[in-house]
Amino acid sequence: MRAGFPDFRLGNVLATSFTGTLSERHGNAVERIPAPHRLVDWLAVNGLAVDSCTTAQLDLARELRESIHAAATAAAIQDALPASAVQVINDRSAQGRAAAILTPEGERRWRLSSASCVEDALSVIAADAISIIAGERDGRLALCASPTCQAAFFDTSQSRTRKWCDMNTCGNRQKKARFHANQRKNPRPAE
Ligand SMILES: [Zn+2]
Repeated sequence: MRAGFPDFRLGNVLATSFTGTLSERHGNAVERIPAPHRLVDWLAVNGLAVDSCTTAQLDLARELRESIHAAATAAAIQDALPASAVQVINDRSAQGRAAAILTPEGERRWRLSSASCVEDALSVIAADAISIIAGERDGRLALCASPTCQAAFFDTSQSRTRKWCDMNTCGNRQKKARFHANQRKNPRPAE
């Protein structure tokens, strides 16, 4: 974590953690990867360490991010997938060379073709997005119930009834808002 930059929101689904690097899209949007080195930081936290990132690569990453957001949102509301978003996701998926590696401990790691290849890292994220949008994984795409967020998230809860992209942020805020609204409706008598 570096001072002066918004924290990352951590999730357990790579593609939607990535789209979460721009939050509050329908409110006061917070850009969590405002500079190339913050994308480097985000990739490191998510098991895709790269040595460096150019402004052009950051642009590619943000274009992919917004394309995943658009396609996942359409999928969540069972709308037709936007063709331009699909194109970007497919281009990024095809233009990287990353290999899945099985560790001796039985975990999957990603090996990028070279340490400077942001494109390789983006291809892993694009492939992750494809797997959830295509319904290949166990879970359901849904939109966050917070009106200022509305982020597409991947619900892997048993009941598939999760309402918020993140319990600690959107979930909490909504609960607090409802609590205050109820208090206004039913003011406690003065003591
Ligand atoms: Zn949310």
